Amino acid sequence: MRELDKQNRFLIESCDVNGQIVQLDQCWRDARARTEYPTSIQTVLGEAFVATVLLASMLKMDGKCTLQVRGPGPVHLLVVQVNSAGECRGLARWKEEPVASDVKSVFGDDATMTIAVESSDYAEPYQGIVPLEGDTLADAMGYYLSNSQQLHTKLIMSVNANTASGLLLQKLPSSQARTEDEDGWSRAKQLASTVTDQELAELNAEELLRRLFFEEEVRLYDATDVVFKCSCSRERTGNMLIGLGEAEMDEILAERDEVAITCEFCDAHYSYDAVDIAALFAGAAEDAAASNQIH
Ligand SMILES: [Zn+2]
Repeated sequence: MRELDKQNRFLIESCDVNGQIVQLDQCWRDARARTEYPTSIQTVLGEAFVATVLLASMLKMDGKCTLQVRGPGPVHLLVVQVNSAGECRGLARWKEEPVASDVKSVFGDDATMTIAVESSDYAEPYQGIVPLEGDTLADAMGYYLSNSQQLHTKLIMSVNANTASGLLLQKLPSSQARTEDEDGWSRAKQLASTVTDQELAELNAEELLRRLFFEEEVRLYDATDVVFKCSCSRERTGNMLIGLGEAEMDEILAERDEVAITCEFCDAHYSYDAVDIAALFAGAAEDAAASNQIH
């Protein structure tokens, strides 16, 4: 049995190729438990989780990395965010079920992918907008990584109900290459392409690398954890409602039975009926009175 929810970096020394293996298990099940996604959307969302985890790790930043896809098709929004602690959150919003899971069927023509990075390492947030190229999100992400980093990249992903996994290979820049092996990149790419969905989902990183690259020299680095976690909470949502004011809450409650808030990053639902709202503002008034007494 392999360890769950891990991200592994490795180096194929004999090929001058860097790589990563990402296997999301509980993290992925938590992500898709929020909403009942049709299978075609589930595939794309799982790939987006894996791609964003890979990207965040490649950037080696202290901050957060957000992948967003918007288009005119059945799925009009997909967003996944990963921070440097390995905490991921994300969701997809759709109007109808796509007929297939290729990116054109899911997002429509002319969809765009936005990669945004906010980090204390950068003076300004970075944002790149690229067209969705290829058939799958793995293709699109592969193109993006090849172009943005000017390095040959191969990305293979696999998604089922239990696990979203990915294998990434990237040719080392010539300044870091240690072998004179001209054939290293194409050999590594060829060997990686033999991986099956089952191997990618079920084998641990060590076993997977041994099976794929058994004649190569491979160095596997320590794994890091990935978890599904959103910063939203009932307390934070309550504070936001208090900020909006009691009059506005009363207006909403006059029209319907509850004030409902849905988190835009993880789809968590928070609902407040008239009693909850009254308690919320009574608590806020008490807090305010207590802090007045102190000063
Ligand atoms: Zn949330």
